[in-house]
Amino acid sequence: MSRRKISILGATGSIGTSTLDLVEREPDAFEVVALTAHSDVAGLADAARRTRAAIAVIGDERKYGALREALAGSGIEAAAGADAVAATATLGADWTMAAIVGFAGLRPTLAALEAGGTVALANKESLVAAGALVTETARKCGATLLPVDSEHNAVFQCFDHAAPESIRKVTLTASGGPFRDWTIEQMAAATPAQAVKHPNWSMGAKISVDSATLMNKGLELIEAFHLFPLPADAFDAIVHPQSVVHALVAYVDGSVLAQLGTPDMRTPIAHSLAWPRRMETPCRALDLATTGRLDFMAPDLERFPALGIALEVMAAGGARPTILNASNEIAVAAFLAGRIGFMDIPLIVRKALERYDPARPGCLDDVFAIDAEARAITREAMESITA
Ligand code: NDP
Ligand code: MG
Repeated sequence: MSRRKISILGATGSIGTSTLDLVEREPDAFEVVALTAHSDVAGLADAARRTRAAIAVIGDERKYGALREALAGSGIEAAAGADAVAATATLGADWTMAAIVGFAGLRPTLAALEAGGTVALANKESLVAAGALVTETARKCGATLLPVDSEHNAVFQCFDHAAPESIRKVTLTASGGPFRDWTIEQMAAATPAQAVKHPNWSMGAKISVDSATLMNKGLELIEAFHLFPLPADAFDAIVHPQSVVHALVAYVDGSVLAQLGTPDMRTPIAHSLAWPRRMETPCRALDLATTGRLDFMAPDLERFPALGIALEVMAAGGARPTILNASNEIAVAAFLAGRIGFMDIPLIVRKALERYDPARPGCLDDVFAIDAEARAITREAMESITA
């Protein structure tokens, strides 16, 4: 069997390192073409050396010298800059992990799709900001888009792709995050350290804050809408604190198929890495007798207004999801930097959506223009709160 040629965008992050962990367990199955990072030179160089990658790319151009130094004598090529990150798509990998966080992942993800191979998509923000464009690019270029997000990977496994008309509903589960049982007053005083301490999953800072506000579930509903051919109102979310059931697909005959597993991203990553075969992972086996019980409850939109905002945005469509994503990225970064409170995040996102209502983006340039303007408007809205 020839080795699957793979590249990892965002190799130093939480998803990137989990992907590398699996790749390194089966060196005979995978050949690493390119690894990318934004500023973590040491992490990137170390991963490139361990996996004998052909090329390592650092997004921050100022780190080019440091990367070259870190790779000296290894024979691994070094490159730097956002264009070089996107250009890794042209290097001949047949499988790419898109695991850059945020809107920054859009261009490299599109480039990987344009190359026509298989793209394992973790970078949900690209689907939220430019969903139609991303799926249209995949279709036109004959690329295969495999969802890595645990809920979407679960749906993918339960979904009868040949008969979507037989599906009535898709339900994504949400752990409820670290503040599931907190009052609004407690959440208003929450610190970044408390917000990134997720009860079930170990993840990057941005998605951890999104999980605490439940914006993550809102982004994921929009992501699901673009990945699976059902109307917007066919998708909903339910809180499930144990994170054992990842998603449910309900059929017209009353059957409901669900995918279960212990909360470890290496399971959905492995599913997409080996697809269409299956590979072994070191993930703890699910033992339901030990888990004991599985709880489910409706999300509380009063304490978690971000989810309600995302649902409105999803129903409205057009440019709204692009604005939602941009304003959320700005607000989350400001919260992590200690400039705004936790409950200010949905407040600021709502303000940005109220102040800006452009027409639906028709092309990638439109998406970039709307994203930039939404960021500027969000910063202004933030000033009115922090002044
Ligand atoms: P991390 O913050 O842990 O990692 C982000 C990666 O992207 C790092 O390699 C980082 O490089 C790189 N990066 C950051 N900014 C840029 C930029 N401007 N240009 C190029 N590269 C950049 O994030 P996660 O791994 O947690 O998440 C990645 C994506 O996967 C997100 O979209 C998230 O929503 C999604 N996801 C994550 C899950 C998880 O369990 N973590 C679960 C489901 C989805 P550097 O290290 O140098 O900064
Ligand atoms: Mg998820």
